[in-house]
Amino acid sequence: MDQILEYEPPLNHDGEGGLVSLLGLTKAQLTEELSRFGVEQKALRMRTAQLWQWMYHRGAADFTDMTTISKDMRRELSAVYSLARPEIVSRQISEDGTRKWLLRSAPGIEYETVYIPEESRGTLCVSSQVGCTLNCTFCHTGTQKLVRNLTPYEIVAQLLIARDELEDWPEIGVGADGTRAITNIVMMGMGEPLYNFDNVKTALEIISDGDGFALSKRRITLSTAGVVPMIPKCGEEIGVLLAISLHAVRDETRDKLVPLNKKYPIAELMEACRNYPGLRNANRITFEYVMLKGVNDSLAEAKELVQLLKGIPAKVNLIPFNPWPGAQYECSDWEQIEAFAEVLMKAGYASPIRTPRGRDILAACGQLKSASEKVRASARR
Ligand code: SAH
Repeated sequence: MDQILEYEPPLNHDGEGGLVSLLGLTKAQLTEELSRFGVEQKALRMRTAQLWQWMYHRGAADFTDMTTISKDMRRELSAVYSLARPEIVSRQISEDGTRKWLLRSAPGIEYETVYIPEESRGTLCVSSQVGCTLNCTFCHTGTQKLVRNLTPYEIVAQLLIARDELEDWPEIGVGADGTRAITNIVMMGMGEPLYNFDNVKTALEIISDGDGFALSKRRITLSTAGVVPMIPKCGEEIGVLLAISLHAVRDETRDKLVPLNKKYPIAELMEACRNYPGLRNANRITFEYVMLKGVNDSLAEAKELVQLLKGIPAKVNLIPFNPWPGAQYECSDWEQIEAFAEVLMKAGYASPIRTPRGRDILAACGQLKSASEKVRASARR
C-alpha cells in the first residue's frame, strides 16, 4: 500500500456555520450537487457553467456578486452553500517580493502556500499535505509528522486565496489588463503529492479547466520524491509536468537523503521517468538536486548524473541547500555548485541554479511551516 494514510475527503467540505462549500468539486460533482439542491434537469448544465465561471474565472467569494443569477436563487443558494475561503492565519512578504500565507481550515489543519514573482512569470508553490511521511533528512517538513492529506477544497483554496490577495482576477487589479500574477503552479509545498493522488488530481482538474482558472497543464509541475508506482498514473490521469527530487546518483547516498529510495531505488525511478507518458523535449522532466557539501556534490557524481539521464528529455535544477536549525548538512560552496552545473551543461543539460527566494520569511524550499511551528513552540515555553 502506497497510500500510507487513507483519508476519504468529504464530497463537500463543511463551510462556515454548517454551510456546504461548493469549492473543490469537479464539474460533474457540482452538477450532482445542484441537482440535489433542486435545479431542474434541463437547467443543470447552464447553472453549473454559470457557477463555475463565477467561482473560478471571476473569483466570486459570495453568491450576492453573481449578477447573472436571479436574486431569489442567489438567496436560496447562500442559505445552503458557502464559497468561504480557509482562514488566513498569517501573511508575510519577503524583501524580494516572495509572499507566504499560512492557512487554516480546521483546528490543527494548517498549511502554507508561497508566491514567487519573477520577471516573466509568477509561480505559486502549493502544498498537498499537512506534514509529510517521507522524512527526507535534509528537509524541514520531514521533521513534522503527517497530520493528514489536504482535500481538493484545501488545495484549490490555496490558489483562490493567492489570487484574492494579489488581486489577480479578470476585471480587477493586476488581472484587469489580461495579464496574470500567477502563471505557473508547482506542487512543491509541504507533503508528497503522489501520496494524495486522488485529491491532487481533482484539484488540478479544477485548476486546469478551461472555463475556470484555465491554467494549462503545461504550466503545472508536480514534484515527487519518487513514488514509482504512481508515476505512470500521474502522467496518464493528471498529465502535468513532472519533477523528481533526485538529490543523489548512488543508492547508498540516496537511501540516507530520501529514505523512500530503499523502497524504490534509483534504477526503478529512472525507468519510470523514461516511460513517463507524454515525455518529449517540450515536456522535459525536471530533476531537482539539492547541493549538500561533501555529501552529493562531487564532480564524479555530476558525471554519474549525466549517465543516469541518458535518453531522458531532462533538465536539472540545482537547489542550494537551505539550512534550518538542527540540520545535519551544509550547503555546498558556490564554486562547487557552479562546477557541478558546468559538467551538466557541457553534456547538454540545462542546469539552472535555483536562487533561494523568500529566505527572510522562511518561504524557501523545505522550510514551510517552520516559522509558525517555532512561534508556537516559543509561546508554549
Ligand atoms: N514531496 C515532494 C514535494 C516537495 S517539493 C518532493 O519531494 O518532491 C520540495 C522540494 O524542495 C523537493 O525537491 C525537496 O527535496 C526540496 N527541499 C526540501 N528541503 C530542502 C532544503 N532544506 N533545501 C533545499 N531544498 C529542499
